[in-house]
Amino acid sequence: MLKINNLCVEVEDKKILNKLNLEVGDDEIHVIMGPNGAGKSTICKAIMSHPDYKITKGTISFNDKVISNMKTDEISREGIFYLMQSPTEIPGVTNAELLRAVSHEKNESKSIFEFNKELNNACEELGIDKSYIHHEINVRMSGGEKKKNEFLQLYELRPKLILLDELDSGLDVDALKELSESLMKYKKEKHASILIITHHVNILDYIKPDCVHILKDGSIFKSGDISLANKIEKEGFSRAFEVDEV
Ligand code: ADP
Ligand code: MG
Repeated sequence: MLKINNLCVEVEDKKILNKLNLEVGDDEIHVIMGPNGAGKSTICKAIMSHPDYKITKGTISFNDKVISNMKTDEISREGIFYLMQSPTEIPGVTNAELLRAVSHEKNESKSIFEFNKELNNACEELGIDKSYIHHEINVRMSGGEKKKNEFLQLYELRPKLILLDELDSGLDVDALKELSESLMKYKKEKHASILIITHHVNILDYIKPDCVHILKDGSIFKSGDISLANKIEKEGFSRAFEVDEV
């Protein structure tokens, strides 16, 4: 599904990712952990072709198609969804307006009645208030509310690959459980893949990973199963890096 090959990325002439290789298969969940500033968010931004993040070497492909030379909206259309660490506020545009535009873009001939019903169901599924539907996108919302709000978009866009950048930041325990469970339900139905960036193993109680990667200085330092994440939680990154470097 997702293949990152020998990827080097620079931001403002600073090298962030350095010969990064990563493969996420169909229906798989991969986790990336790493200290602050290791380049975790940069991976997501490079996948989504953020204009500030310059790919100087390597390729990113999705379902055997090279996407590293494509524009962000084209990548999104291929079926990749990025839930940012701090979702952007878009004043003046409501969720309903954005999602109706998405539906038109997909050439879905849904009546306004069907569309409203779908959004109402999505709110119920996500345990969010129906007033979100006509709320301006992420405007004046808390960190946790923004994450929930982004899930509404996810439900409408129906991606095949979901990039979750610190979903757990800003979410209370109940909301984390609720969103994780609905995400797993979505994954089961759609056989989607998930790349999740996190600092805490709590989220992995709900979203069970197939593979855990530790990022250090812009490349994958080590990969393993859930036991690697538990080890990091117990011992910290510096201990893990020290031990492996001896
Ligand atoms: P992580 O998500 O692992 O904490 P990031 O990928 O956000 O780290 O950032 C990696 C490094 O790149 C950091 O040193 C950060 O300061 C730098 N960086 C990220 N984005 C930018 C940007 N837009 N401009 C300048 N430096 C950036
Ligand atoms: Mg980050």
